[in-house]
Amino acid sequence: MFANILIKNMKIIKINHFFFLFTFLVIISCKKDDESTPLIDEAKSENLKPLGTSATDLLSQNTYSSLTLELAFTTGFRPSQEAIDDFKSFLESRINKPGGIVFVETEIITPFVESQTIDDIREIEDEQRIHYTVADDIAIFIYFSHAKASTDSEISVTLGTAYRNTSVVIYQQTIREVSISQNSDLYVLEETTLQHEIGHLFGLVNIQEDDIHSEHEDLAHRKHCKVESCLMYFETNLPGSFRNRINVPSLDSLCIEDLQAKGGK
Ligand SMILES: [Zn+2]
Ligand SMILES: [Zn+2]
Repeated sequence: MFANILIKNMKIIKINHFFFLFTFLVIISCKKDDESTPLIDEAKSENLKPLGTSATDLLSQNTYSSLTLELAFTTGFRPSQEAIDDFKSFLESRINKPGGIVFVETEIITPFVESQTIDDIREIEDEQRIHYTVADDIAIFIYFSHAKASTDSEISVTLGTAYRNTSVVIYQQTIREVSISQNSDLYVLEETTLQHEIGHLFGLVNIQEDDIHSEHEDLAHRKHCKVESCLMYFETNLPGSFRNRINVPSLDSLCIEDLQAKGGK
């Protein structure tokens, strides 16, 4: 009995250690996201650009008056309804799309694999994505994967990555596992990861080096905000940080002003 408790405690210590190291993966992941993607299809070219380059198009009504957001998930890996509903409210509160924001759900059947590289994710998007930017409607693709990130290890995991100007992957199975191991609310994990990654599509923080408040970029953890309570703080979607959190962090005033400068609310 006593030995069991000891083993359990040891496991907890190990998990704490691992979540600290996760920090570095988040940054590496976000840096890689800045790499450009070759244009392979003219009809899709608006959606094959580097991260952060469509921030103004997504936030303002200048070029695109409406947004179609495609939620693609492997069968059985749809996020919670509460997360989907709150995510829509978050978008409505931040972006100017008088023509409306429409969510479309796509169920994807893919062969089971344990892990996926970002190239694998790009391939799935290229084969499965239905909605692309057309006329005055801009489209975002978010894939909820059954697999873990190929960069995951025993000491670190990734919950989500923004990898193109309108593309995000959420590692839904990993989120569920972390929710159980951290005894944390699944909705808070899902929603924080979704909002943080979409924040990168909106150019936060200083991804294209054109934010009006570039001084709030955390130079030790590039492309993230140095305000600790902010949604875009580098540790915000660090699994260990969910242990005592009951709410999704908000954007701080500097991040909001950066979005407003690009046509957001
Ligand atoms: Zn990030
Ligand atoms: Zn911020």
